[in-house]
Amino acid sequence: MSTSHTAAPDAPLIVALGTSLGRRAHLLQQAVAALAITPQVRILASSDVYDTTPLGGVAKHRFLNAAIRLETTLEPEPLLDVLQSVETALGRTRNQHWEDRTMDLDLVLWGERVIKTPRLVVPHPELHRRRFVLAPAVDLAPQARHPLRDRSLRQLLEALPTTEGDCVRVGPLTLLPMD
Ligand code: AMP
Repeated sequence: MSTSHTAAPDAPLIVALGTSLGRRAHLLQQAVAALAITPQVRILASSDVYDTTPLGGVAKHRFLNAAIRLETTLEPEPLLDVLQSVETALGRTRNQHWEDRTMDLDLVLWGERVIKTPRLVVPHPELHRRRFVLAPAVDLAPQARHPLRDRSLRQLLEALPTTEGDCVRVGPLTLLPMD
């Protein structure tokens, strides 16, 4: 595994955010703020926020989804530890897959890196299938290639069936009305 994690323009590190419980806009801002003050992490950009249909039949509430682009000196699993500690700090509990949650942070893409450990799979296995992940990721890095699919993020988004989830662009994170 490489130890150099600076954000080359063509190797974006993208983290997806999702929230369906509580003050969702506020929670998104708190998650970004928590990452912004993490010493080894620098936030380079944030996507627009999207209001999306929950998938999987378990969650009952609509989600707000967004993505951020980072650079970090952390290795992948320590970065996952940071993401999970932010989820926990924002009230995340883990019970059922697909359930409503205050905050979900997923490491969806790290340039061309392919990582498979018991705790971490990158690119995220759902990245190419989920409009609520691809739409914000395309805001940040439309030309970035999925290393296992030989398609750019924009191509993957355009190839999704129109039936794949309702995903309404709400606007920039900083301009969201606070709930
Ligand atoms: P979730 O319900 O989406 O929050 O899934 C959390 C679980 O997925 C954790 O146990 C993580 O270790 C695991 N996981 C595997 N790959 C990833 C990834 N790319 N980003 C975040 N969590 C991941």
